[in-house]
Amino acid sequence: MRNTFNTLMHLQEIDRQLATLESVKGDLPQRLEAITEELESKQRARQEKEDAIRETVTAQQQARDELVLMRERLKKYQSQLYQVKNNREYDAITIEIENTEKEADALDYKILEYEESLAKLQQERDALTPVIEELATRRTENQEILEKTLATTRDEEQKLLLEREETVKAVPRQILSTYNRIRSGRGGVALALLRDGACSECSSRIPPQRGLEIRQMDKLYLCEVCGRIMIWLPEAKNT
Ligand SMILES: [Zn+2]
Repeated sequence: MRNTFNTLMHLQEIDRQLATLESVKGDLPQRLEAITEELESKQRARQEKEDAIRETVTAQQQARDELVLMRERLKKYQSQLYQVKNNREYDAITIEIENTEKEADALDYKILEYEESLAKLQQERDALTPVIEELATRRTENQEILEKTLATTRDEEQKLLLEREETVKAVPRQILSTYNRIRSGRGGVALALLRDGACSECSSRIPPQRGLEIRQMDKLYLCEVCGRIMIWLPEAKNT
């Protein structure tokens, strides 16, 4: 058991160093992620505008083609007016002409509406461009800073992770899972020393009887206040 405690102490030192390396990176990875997300959402928004522009251009072109056909039809009706044989035919063609003119007016209006929404869409799309460019620049900058930081810490981190992998092999599974659970719940520190009759991490007094038991180092005792694994080092001063 004493060996296990020594291994845990070693493990905690590795974890402490890993945490230090992690803190060097700081919030760079999160910041980079946030910028990337924003950039992608703006790019999607611009793509949506592009799609809408393309659809509007197509619809406008269709309306124009239709208008050309209508005007040809109107010409045809008008030339037919000169060849009518009676009033009934004349009235019928006149009604056709009136209807077609109405339709053509409506189409003209629609084409104007397309023109307006195109101008609006293009303006919205163009407004996104500088925003996207700025975000892309910021992302590149942050990426470079992060990569530089990672390059300086990567080797050390690799070494520590390998060492951790080896070290945990010597820790019984149950104790390791207790260690990991306490570590993640207690700010990365799972062990506490019995020092001067108190817990070195939370400073709460350890009852003398419990202190004696901890000193035996033959069982896992947790601090009743902070829940950390209590360790007694013979060289540490004890009362
Ligand atoms: Zn404690």
